[in-house]
Amino acid sequence: MNNRIELVSSDITTLEVDGIVNAANNSLLGGGGVDGAIHRAAGPALLEECRKLNGCETGEAKITKGHNLPAQYVIHTVGPVWHGGTTGEDDLLASCYQESFKFAREFTLQSIAFPAISTGVYGFPKHRAAHIAIRETLKALAENKGLARVLFVYFNTETGIAYEEALQEER
Ligand code: ADP
Repeated sequence: MNNRIELVSSDITTLEVDGIVNAANNSLLGGGGVDGAIHRAAGPALLEECRKLNGCETGEAKITKGHNLPAQYVIHTVGPVWHGGTTGEDDLLASCYQESFKFAREFTLQSIAFPAISTGVYGFPKHRAAHIAIRETLKALAENKGLARVLFVYFNTETGIAYEEALQEER
């Protein structure tokens, strides 16, 4: 199953995949980090579509079209803010991946790219987040044979190393 997982150092907005995942906030009306980059690249029609969605709860996900992005769809999920790990952060982050993979199945996506949800401004420890991401992905790949490629996109070396290690350890 590991041959269906790829680690890529890239800007997620440039990827030619069926769907990219956005680490959004509860408003779904854009923000900084990867969220801002996705909205800039997708163009104002993405914001228009997001306005109709009435926000998104933490741990849940909503889907839109990709508009000007090379990706056909954007799955917007809201990761937890890290408060020390005792307020359900692990389960909420796992839920972001589970809900994103549900859309991947429902929309028969063959390829999906994830940013390192919650590990930027939201402060989730990178290694811990990478383990959750890989664990949920291995489960999803076992259940969804149509999902050929899952890409983990990293913007900094530390995140890349966290994914490498998590892949070795979860294998
Ligand atoms: P959160 O608020 O969920 O923590 P951030 O956007 O602050 O989300 O950060 C999540 C991760 O996305 C970080 O590792 C950050 O370096 C990375 N990131 C930021 N911009 C991009 C981009 N254009 N493509 C891929 N990853 C990005």
